[in-house]
Amino acid sequence: MNKTKFTKISGPCAVESYEQMIHAAKAIKDNIDILRAGAFKPRTNPNSFQGLGEEGIKILNRVGKEIGKPVITEVLDTRHVSLVNKYSDYLQVGARNMHNYELLKEVGKTGKTVVLKRGLAAKVSEWIMASKYVSAGGSKVILCERGIRTFEDSTRFTLDLAGAMLAKIEYGLPVFVDPSHATGRKDLIASMVRAIHSAGFDGVMIESHCCPVSAKCDGDQALEPDEYNSIISNL
Ligand code: PEP
Ligand code: MN
Repeated sequence: MNKTKFTKISGPCAVESYEQMIHAAKAIKDNIDILRAGAFKPRTNPNSFQGLGEEGIKILNRVGKEIGKPVITEVLDTRHVSLVNKYSDYLQVGARNMHNYELLKEVGKTGKTVVLKRGLAAKVSEWIMASKYVSAGGSKVILCERGIRTFEDSTRFTLDLAGAMLAKIEYGLPVFVDPSHATGRKDLIASMVRAIHSAGFDGVMIESHCCPVSAKCDGDQALEPDEYNSIISNL
């Protein structure tokens, strides 16, 4: 039985407003260790909501303080590292930036813990190499498996729990798992969280939103607070 701490990260995909964030955060605060939400969003379609940027980071920071929890948000670009570092307790490098070595070097210099998502088509060995760019600067790294692209398209990505466990065992880094982006479907999240927890991973990142149907980003995979709370309290 794994006795190490199991870290729970949840919150909306994107910061949409102060009201949306405080609602979402208060509703899950008893079952999270870290509050998440994106202010700079890496969207496939340039016409999709791109995030509130600096205003969003400030909202996330304020809401984190109001509920008494640390926050994490994605840093997309080297130009934003100092801003994100100022307002966020943890830094997230997203799947689309796992190979952005200049960004990895910059976040590595902040001294903050960096959650490094696995690239959409990255091998475990490439993910580990990317983590070394970050740790070379002095920052701690937590890997986060979020699904990879395979021929299988019945889920959004393919959740590679075996590869993620290999990364944990062979390289000794903590590994979180994000079943929200991996599956893209809220009906698969409860069973995946049980699998992630019982396998002995170090934590989960799960998207939740008070009103998924009106979410500006990733509503299909977002859990409502009650659903999130019951999954976590049943672990
Ligand atoms: C996210 O966590 O909101 C996100 C964009 O994740 P990923 O980089 O894994 O797609
Ligand atoms: Mn998302």
